[in-house]
Order: sequence, then structure tokens, then C-alpha cells
Amino acid sequence: MSAAVLTIGTELMRGEIVDTNAAWLAAELSAVGFRVTRKLCVDDDHERIQAALAALGAEHDLFVCTGGLGPTTDDITAECVARFLEVPLERDAPSLARIRERIVRAGRSPTASNDKQADFPRGARVLPNERGTAPGFAVEVGRARAFFLPGVPTEMEAMFSIHVVPALAGLPHDPAAQVVLRTFGLPESGVNDLLAGIETRFRVTLGYRARFPEVDVKVFARRDDGASAERAARKAADAAREALGSAVFAEGDVGYPEALGRLLVERGVTLGLAESCTGGLLAELLTRAPGSSRFFLGSLVTYANEAKQAVLQVPPALLERYGAVSEEVARSMAEGARRVLRADYALAVTGIAGPGGGSDDKPVGLVHYALAGEMTTARQRIFSGTRIQVRRRAAYAALALLREHLLGEPPA
Ligand code: ATP
Ligand code: MG
Repeated sequence: MSAAVLTIGTELMRGEIVDTNAAWLAAELSAVGFRVTRKLCVDDDHERIQAALAALGAEHDLFVCTGGLGPTTDDITAECVARFLEVPLERDAPSLARIRERIVRAGRSPTASNDKQADFPRGARVLPNERGTAPGFAVEVGRARAFFLPGVPTEMEAMFSIHVVPALAGLPHDPAAQVVLRTFGLPESGVNDLLAGIETRFRVTLGYRARFPEVDVKVFARRDDGASAERAARKAADAAREALGSAVFAEGDVGYPEALGRLLVERGVTLGLAESCTGGLLAELLTRAPGSSRFFLGSLVTYANEAKQAVLQVPPALLERYGAVSEEVARSMAEGARRVLRADYALAVTGIAGPGGGSDDKPVGLVHYALAGEMTTARQRIFSGTRIQVRRRAAYAALALLREHLLGEPPA
């Protein structure tokens, strides 16, 4: 089955919004076994929208469209579909009632523009929207099953799962399965090299996605039935895991900081931070996933020497003698944070994120980081890249130091 994605909106066409819906839908459709062979984006224009409908309806078995279902005059998707199908727009009474009720609940008065969102091409199946006012609809366009969803990503994603996925189950598609391996510590090319031969040996497709500085490996298998596809993807993923060793930290929807957080919870230990050049980034990474309060005690962001002395009790003599970016100060920061926060472990990072501030013996990108537990371990690295990249690499390096310590693994 060949599938396509259509996104509608002048803002998209002008580059004012990034077309994340197209990427999301293409990934979801591919993951359930449809071959997405076309993505089309058009502006809010009657002729171009109808031309897109004609093209997709002629060439595809299925397409999903987003955008232009709202109350404003530039929201013309339903009208274009009706014109293309040569059917009238008809007002759907249950949708109208729901739209009005939603608006009244929000403390506003419904207007004629809101009512317009209850108009659908005759014969369309209405798809209710639990998260917003604009319902979607499903119709046949040419030979394609076509689904029209609102542009707002959260609404679109929920409606795709609730209404589109079940409708697709009955359509012929190539059963497929995938396993996503999450890696850190190797460059994309390094991951690729270690996985040489897996694709042919297991008849799977490997896909790579860099989420700086992590790299995801997607192991994708197509077979005659779903269970065989699952087995094939699993077998290949196991071989890939073996080839990649400790670079694989998780599978699926788990980032490196979250995986580390889980490990800390499993061990029943707490973590505190002392951050200088990362300016709170480490704390942000660790608290992004819910439940971080089970292990995370706090981060002491100390930029100035005075703050390092006052908050972390770093001795002035160390700062004077070795400078703020030094192994000695990194160690003292980590030990100070552990003491002040009464944590089992503390990580500290101090470095020169750039682009200025480097010198011959302390170049831009130099980062000292340390882990204080029962003993204190320190490392230093010179990271390349922009300020944002150096800070991110530094934060990840510190997390890796703790992970290695907990797992007893050698440094990546
Ligand atoms: P609304 O009822 O909010 O008007 P709509 O179906 O008319 O919904 P649009 O007006 O096209 O949708 O888009 C609403 C908002 O949704 C846009 O301002 C944009 O922020 C987001 N959006 C729309 N299309 C996309 C897309 N393809 N990718 C990412 N975001 C999008
Ligand atoms: Mg709109």
C-alpha cells in the first residue's frame, strides 16, 4: 500500500513553522507498515489544495492530511475537499453541539466562524477531536482513503491514534516491526561501522538518527506477517546490541539522562550537582523526565569564584593556585555539592564553553568534571564545537562518568 502525507498551510509554505506533522505522520505510517512515498505541502489556496487532492487520490491508496480545519477564513480544507468531490458541505449537528459547548465552557460565545468547523463534505465520516474544537473527517479521494486532521500537533497526534490507526488495521499493508536502540559514546559513523553486515545477515533495514550527542539506531524488518517481522527485528536488534556493547543504554523512548536516572532509582541512591560552564543544563537534562525527585536533590549553579567559595566551600587557595577550570577545583566542587546537598553522589563540571575565554594552556572546550562518592574521580576533556555543543558534550560526559561508575564499565 502506498501512502502519502499532505500538510496544508501558508505559514508552512513560507517556512514560518517547521512541518513537524509531516515527519511525525510519515514515521507513524512507516512504523505500522505503510510505504510512505510522497509528502506534499501546499499553502492555503483553493486551486493548489484541489490539485494536491487530485494527485494524491490518483497515485496513492492512503493519505493523511493536516491543517486548515480551524475557524478562520484561511481554513479552507473542508471546502476544498467538498469542491473537489463535487458534493455540498453539510453541517453536522452533533459536532456543532460539541463545538459550541466547548467554547461556552471556555467562557466565550460561539460565533458563525466557530459553527463553520461543523461543516463537512457530504458523505464524510466525522472524527471527533477530544483536545480541541476542530473535528477531522475521513472520505475517499480518488482511489485513496483520506483522513483530514487539524494542524495543531497535539490534537493531530491524538486523533491519529484514536481514529486513523484503527481504520488502517483493515487495509492491506506489509507487516513491519522495529526496535530502536539508543546509544551514546560513539559517533554516527562509528555506530554504522560496528553494524556492518547486519542488514544483509538479518534482512532488515537500519536507520540512524543523531540526537546530539546521542545516536539512535532503528532496526526495521518487513515480513509476511506481524509476528515474523517482530521476531526478525528482535534478532537483528540483539546482534546489533552485541556489536555496539556498552554504547547501547536503552531501547525505545528513553534518553541517556533518563536511563541514568532509572539506574540511580534502582540503586536507591541520590545525586547532587555543582555546575559551572553547563549553567544548569545537567539539572535540566535530569529533571526532564517525571519522577526525577526520587533521586535528584538539586544543582548548585556556581559561575563566579565567589559563588564556588560561598556555596560549595571551594577553598580560595585552590581557585587562586589552579584557576576555576582545573581538576582540583572540579574535585572540590563535587565534594562540596555532595556535602552541602547530603547526596550519595555529586557531579561537578567546570570548563571553558567558548567562543572566547580560552588561552594556550586552557583552550576553549577544555572541561574538567568530577564525581564525588565515597571516593572522588576526575576527568578532563577538550570538546570541539560551538558553545551549545561544548556544554551539551560536557553535561553528557559527566553523566557518563557516573554511569560507568555505577555499572563498573570502562570509560567510553
Ligand atoms: P486551528 O483550529 O488551530 O486553526 P487548523 O486545523 O486550522 O487548526 P492550522 O490553522 O493549519 O490548523 O494550524 C494551527 C497551528 O498548528 C499552526 O499555527 C501551527 O502552530 C500548527 N501546525 C499546523 N500545521 C502544522 C504542521 N504541518 N507541522 C507542525 N505544526 C503545524
Ligand atoms: Mg487554522
